[in-house]
Amino acid sequence: MKNEVSEQIHVLFFPFMAHGHMIPVIDMAKLFSSRGAKSTLLTTRSNQEFLHKRIEEIKNQNPDLEIGIKVFDFPCVELGLPEGCDHVDFIISYRKPDAGDLLLKLFLSTIYMNQQLESFIETTKPTCLVADMFFTWATESAQKFGVPRLVFHGTSFFSLCCFNTMRTHEPHKKVTTNSTPFVITGLPGDIVMTPEQANVPPEDTPMGMIMKAVSESESNSFGVLVNSFYELEPAYADFYRSVGAKRAWHIGPLSLFNREFAEKAQRGKKGVIDEQECLKWLESKTPGSVIYVSFGSGAKFTNEQMLEIAAGLEGSQQNFIWVVKKNEKQGEKEDWLPEGYEERTKGEGLIIRGWAPQMLILEHKAVGGFVTHCGWNSALEGISMGLPMVTWPRGAEQFYNEKLLTQVLRIGVNVGATELVKKGKLISREEVAKAVREVIDGEEAEERRERAKKLGEMAKAAVEEGGSSYNDLSRFMEELKCYKVEKVEEEDTTCFTLWNAFLVIVNKLFTIQ
Ligand code: UDP
Repeated sequence: MKNEVSEQIHVLFFPFMAHGHMIPVIDMAKLFSSRGAKSTLLTTRSNQEFLHKRIEEIKNQNPDLEIGIKVFDFPCVELGLPEGCDHVDFIISYRKPDAGDLLLKLFLSTIYMNQQLESFIETTKPTCLVADMFFTWATESAQKFGVPRLVFHGTSFFSLCCFNTMRTHEPHKKVTTNSTPFVITGLPGDIVMTPEQANVPPEDTPMGMIMKAVSESESNSFGVLVNSFYELEPAYADFYRSVGAKRAWHIGPLSLFNREFAEKAQRGKKGVIDEQECLKWLESKTPGSVIYVSFGSGAKFTNEQMLEIAAGLEGSQQNFIWVVKKNEKQGEKEDWLPEGYEERTKGEGLIIRGWAPQMLILEHKAVGGFVTHCGWNSALEGISMGLPMVTWPRGAEQFYNEKLLTQVLRIGVNVGATELVKKGKLISREEVAKAVREVIDGEEAEERRERAKKLGEMAKAAVEEGGSSYNDLSRFMEELKCYKVEKVEEEDTTCFTLWNAFLVIVNKLFTIQ
């Protein structure tokens, strides 16, 4: 379906090196190419294989699409980081006490790639650069060559509005404790949160500085691409455009651009379960009777919490698919599972240890609900499939996404997670069972399901020709074609001071090590 664009647009996509960031960007590259653009994905060596496999799969299905990869050098050891650290999966599995600092160091050290990015931009002269929010330095790199930089945050309009409003009004500073609820002043909808859930890092901390830089680099950018659709969150899409970003285009749900079985099955990592086997299991269940439980690409729980989840799912007396990310070697005792559990729940339950074909599962008619950590990709995939959800946020911006699902859209039921997961609050088996039952066949389940179903229909319509996301992408591409190149002279740029501040922090962290 190559189309209207006569002068070919070339888009460089630079996703952050984590599955939750790369997966939607690959979908986005595919989307742009299917609308006539040429797409190039930029990454580092550790992520090359993952991207390469996905691109090959896409090209098998769509031989006409122009999508390529450019690999940047990221010498972890020379940068003072452990080998292989240029992928967030590595950090998640890094069990040393300073694992938290490692992520911070990775955020800061990405600056190392600025010269490679600049020389690639200089030689290829792309039409624009779509770079992850964490590459705060990329706006200036692109501007040096008159190339517009777009920011991709990978989250909802709602969360973006919350962040902006929190920064402007600071309502979290007006309450006395971390668990005292406050209303996010200035934001439509009287959204109630606690400072802990809002998770705003103080400005004088490294993470606070990074978030400030994210916001400055966004203000200086050409605009923001949002993986959402207008009908889902119209008040917040409007609010963001009027109060927050200069310009934003909604082009999602991006997952819906995977239409063939193979594309949906191979969207993330290679699954640990044969897709057909998984679908056969689902086929044996009545429509809407299965709850799908998954917490994103890497989230892990303590054994104690896992035992509560196991007992809760069994106690709910519903069918379930539970995706577990654990690192045990084969044959090792699994302390997180009650004795004889799988034998006992055989028939009702399926445990997937590792990567699951989430899109195929969510779209199956047997699935009636989704227990999610509210990572935006998962939340939007659940919405796109018209599913009600049990919300179990753990950190990052997940509490904001949860408020969208529970307070605004009213398609979610909170499991009882009120604090960041690092605080260690245990969610009991009773809470798990209650929330699951409520979503599958509770008193308000039918109304909730109806609301979710309508949103799923709207999501699909948004990406079809003439739909709101389809049209916004057309507008964006037209605007790009009309963009007049204005080379920004180096002396005019203002953010170099920020870079220097970054480098001070990087050096400080590295000398601590
Ligand atoms: N995913 C998957 N199978 C899994 C776990 C995750 O396909 O076993 C995909 C999921 O469909 C989503 C992405 O990985 O597209 C996870 O992104 P999300 O924003 O939900 O969470 P994150 O991993 O970033 O916390």
